[in-house]
Amino acid sequence: LEHLLQLQELDLKIEACSKREVEIPKQKNKFDVQKKNLSAEIEAREEACKKLELEQRECEGDIEQRHAQIGKYNEQLLGVKKNEEYTALLHEIDGQKKQIALKEERIISIMVEMDEGKARLAEDKKRVAEELADIDRQCKEIDGELSEAIKNRQALEAQRQPYIDKVEAKQLTQYQRLRGNKKSGAVLVPMRGETCGGCHMTVRPQIANEILGGDVHGCQYCGRLLYHEDRVSTEVDAPSA
Ligand SMILES: [Zn+2]
Repeated sequence: LEHLLQLQELDLKIEACSKREVEIPKQKNKFDVQKKNLSAEIEAREEACKKLELEQRECEGDIEQRHAQIGKYNEQLLGVKKNEEYTALLHEIDGQKKQIALKEERIISIMVEMDEGKARLAEDKKRVAEELADIDRQCKEIDGELSEAIKNRQALEAQRQPYIDKVEAKQLTQYQRLRGNKKSGAVLVPMRGETCGGCHMTVRPQIANEILGGDVHGCQYCGRLLYHEDRVSTEVDAPSA
C-alpha cells in the first residue's frame, strides 16, 4: 500500500506537469491578437499613403485633360467671328485655368501630407518591429518554460517503474484502471471515520471493518480505492482527494 501511495503521489505530480504543459502555450494567445493589431496599424498607414498617391494621379490626369481642352478652345478662337462667341470661349478658358490652379494647390498639399504620412509610417514600422521582436522574445521564453515542464514530467515518469514493481499486481490493476477512468485527482484515498475520503459518502459497516482490518476496497459510490491510514507507515503523506 505504501508503494501504491508513493506511485500515486508521483502520478499526481505528473498530472500537474501535464496540466501546465497545456496551460503554458495558452499564454501565447494574447500575442496573436497583439500581432494582428500591429500589422493592421501598419496596413492602415500604408493604405492612407496609397490613397494620397491615387488622388495625386487623378489630379494630374485632370490637369492634363484641362490643358488639352484649353488647347482646343484656343484653336476655336482663331476661327471665331462673333464677339459674344469670343468672350464665351475666353470665359471657358478662364474657368479651366481656375480649376487647374485648384488641382495644383491640392497636389501640393497632397505632397505635404504624403511626406508626413511616410515619415509616420517609417516611425511606426520601426516601433512595430521592436514590439514584434519583444513578442518573439516572450514567446521563446514561454517555449523554454514549456520544454522545462516537459522535461520535468519525463523525469517524473522515469521514476514510476520502481514503484510499479513493488506494488501488488491486483492493486496495481485496480489503481491503473481507476486512473484511466478518472480525469484527475487522487484515486487512492483514506477512509475518514466511516466515510469515503473522496466523495464523503458513508461506507457500509462491513466494508469499513475490512478496511480497518487492512484491506483496500473500492468505494461503492465513487469507485475510489479506500484504505485505512493507520495501515500506512508514517513517512508517506496521505494525499488529499
Ligand atoms: Zn467514494
